[in-house]
Amino acid sequence: MSERLRPALLDSTLALLIDGAWVEGSSDVLTVVDPSTGAPIATAYAAGKADVDRAVRAARRAFEGNWSSVRPKDRARMLTRIADLIEENAEELALLESLDTGKPLRVTRDVEVPASAEAFRYYAGWATKLSGDTRNVSLPGEWHAFTLRRPLGVAALIVPWNSPLLMAATKLAPALAAGCTAVLKPAELTPLSATRLGELILEADLPRGVVNIVTGLGSVAGHALAEHPLVDKITFTGSTAVGKGLLTTVAGTLKRITLELGGKSPVVIFPDADLERAIAGTAMGIFANAGQVCGAGSRLFVHEDIAEEVVSGIAEIARTIRVGGAFEPDSVIGPLISAAQRERVLSLVEQACSDGAELVAGGGALQRPGFFVEPTVFRAVRPELTIAREEVFGPVLVTHTFSGDASLDEIAALANDTPYGLSSSLWTRDITRAHRLTRRIRAGEVRINTAFGMDEDMPFGGFRQSGWGKEYGREGIEAYTEVTSVTVDITG
Ligand code: NAP
Ligand code: MG
Repeated sequence: MSERLRPALLDSTLALLIDGAWVEGSSDVLTVVDPSTGAPIATAYAAGKADVDRAVRAARRAFEGNWSSVRPKDRARMLTRIADLIEENAEELALLESLDTGKPLRVTRDVEVPASAEAFRYYAGWATKLSGDTRNVSLPGEWHAFTLRRPLGVAALIVPWNSPLLMAATKLAPALAAGCTAVLKPAELTPLSATRLGELILEADLPRGVVNIVTGLGSVAGHALAEHPLVDKITFTGSTAVGKGLLTTVAGTLKRITLELGGKSPVVIFPDADLERAIAGTAMGIFANAGQVCGAGSRLFVHEDIAEEVVSGIAEIARTIRVGGAFEPDSVIGPLISAAQRERVLSLVEQACSDGAELVAGGGALQRPGFFVEPTVFRAVRPELTIAREEVFGPVLVTHTFSGDASLDEIAALANDTPYGLSSSLWTRDITRAHRLTRRIRAGEVRINTAFGMDEDMPFGGFRQSGWGKEYGREGIEAYTEVTSVTVDITG
């Protein structure tokens, strides 16, 4: 990136947004690194426990004050304004996001920044549609019975580094549309786009304290949010391990919690599929964002008759797809987020090789600065190996073959043999088989003849150890509300 394009945000230490003002944090300063080069690019204040307390109290005051009297249509207008501002500043947001995460610019500019604006637009529409309903009670006499749907209060939004702006938007938009106020904690590795979003939110004239942003460490700022008695709701995306820990923390206050955790999602390919599309889709389904996607299809199950063709086709894509820095014009796959994440992925690959898994593509780091790992494919992996069971969160596909005699129940059993249940993809032209297998897959999402398929209106969230609850869609906004049942005796 040329100096001419360097966003002004990077010139001073990023601050915390508390009660409508940018303030310095009381904890250590974080160094923000460009994963495409490994070079430091900015610094950010980290929120301490006292900063988090001030942010939560500001959100509480805003919830009980101004925000609750803002009419739904005015909330909708503010959210639409945020969407407009994201679009007006799309180029800069994309630059910041690509610098911070290493994602190719075409991904941030063409996909993630527009999707972030859409999240605000979509939930702006919901602000005026969210409602309770009337009920037909059977109590003796005459009754008017109805439900009131009400905002939960202060929502703490804890996001990871793999799609920082989009995840912040996916949480902020429904929280605000529902009438909650928010404290957002970006991942310590990726605070840039959230901070710029905070500036845009101030421009959109939301009452002060409605949105607060506390950059900082999970173990400090994240933990302080989870245990704070004035926080009513936690929405978390990240690792299953931290998600489980949060359950223990919120037990102290019984606050509501939504958990969007890891996955080890299956892909099943039958011989009647459009194999060209299935091969390309499966490759991008695991290699996109260098595999740092919770719903990535990381376990392939392929029919024995086409196994050679499919696996060698994906391996060929792995070997030829352009891996490069965020600002190299033909990059398709960027680096991993950090040196630590690169080491973790490489050590899982190394362990798989010593466990006897057959490597057919990739497996190493790129010999250049930055945290790049080659797209990697293993053939016919034994399902009990660690590489076939643990979420790698890197560009690593394990492939398995199923026999032509396998029943749909047997294929489903293979696909479901994981503690997770986030997503899945099925490739077949046989509509009956597709729907029969869909009903047998234990996952929050089934993608048929596609590796992608997320949309603001489609609820997203995992079964089993992939999490609790849904984001997106009606379910995504209802998660920020609570229902009161009201019974009125109108017997004359
Ligand atoms: P993580 O440690 O679970 O972090 C997610 C968010 O939670 C970050 O903001 C993190 O802060 C915060 N956090 C960490 N410990 C916390 C605590 N005790 N209390 C409250 N908040 C806490 O995940 P990660 O380090 O970003 O990535 C590790 C693994 O998580 C990946 O390898 C992958 O398996 C999984 N992951 C899943 C998704 C997904 O979309 N489901 C996304 C990213 C990662 P810090 O930034 O300070 O750590
Ligand atoms: Mg972490």
